[in-house]
Amino acid sequence: MRTPLVAGNWKMHLRVREALDLVGALRQALDGLAGVEVVVCPPFTALADVGRALAGSTIGLGAQNVHWAPQGPFTGEIAAPMLREVGCTHVIVGHSERRHGLGETDAMVQRKVAAALAHGLVPILCVGETLAEREAGRTEDVLAAQLGAGVADVGAADAARLVVAYEPVWAIGIGRPATGAEANRVAGLLRTWLGERFGAAAATVRVLYGGSVTPETVGEFAAQPQVDGALVGGASLQAEAFASIVRAVLGARVAP
Ligand code: PEP
Repeated sequence: MRTPLVAGNWKMHLRVREALDLVGALRQALDGLAGVEVVVCPPFTALADVGRALAGSTIGLGAQNVHWAPQGPFTGEIAAPMLREVGCTHVIVGHSERRHGLGETDAMVQRKVAAALAHGLVPILCVGETLAEREAGRTEDVLAAQLGAGVADVGAADAARLVVAYEPVWAIGIGRPATGAEANRVAGLLRTWLGERFGAAAATVRVLYGGSVTPETVGEFAAQPQVDGALVGGASLQAEAFASIVRAVLGARVAP
């Protein structure tokens, strides 16, 4: 059985003091919880402080982006060894806000996923179609291309460490998620494609759903057999909301 994962994407929110307040509250609510993996992804400026505040915690630390080079003349970028140095275990790669707002291409995502794995980081590879792509009937083509490129340089030995997040772009940040059935169908499809590429190792890849997951909507996804947790944006900025999403995901897994 796959251990579910709930990751909070704090995006470009929270100054260091606010980030520390949030992580303190999350430690109180979630530390030591077994059966579910929890990761928070603060902005770069808060990573080191939040990393220190998470010492001894069961909550993991993730970044929101990584460059593929281990160092070099890449102004404004951050390398995987730098993320490891401040305690990161995970990194979000290919988020739609980077793909569609900042020009990140499939080829860049491909290199970032490989670099993350090479440096011991778990990549949370985001894939998802826009509303226009969905309405044009291109959802599966888009997802296949994003996933195919994202894992193109991943060897079979590393495949099981991958996390894939299905994040339909039309459902992000607007309070109107996909349905559980839809998320389950797509998660199953992604796992089938991973199986064609990696064989049995695909069975252990976690596939998350992301897009307007809140304490009110999480039940819809937590109960889906192909969905192994959530990537949470807005609701991850409030300790109680995020904690209740984590508990719902765990509760659905342990329920008979
Ligand atoms: C996200 O940005 O990854 C996300 C899922 O955002 P939200 O939960 O706010 O829709």
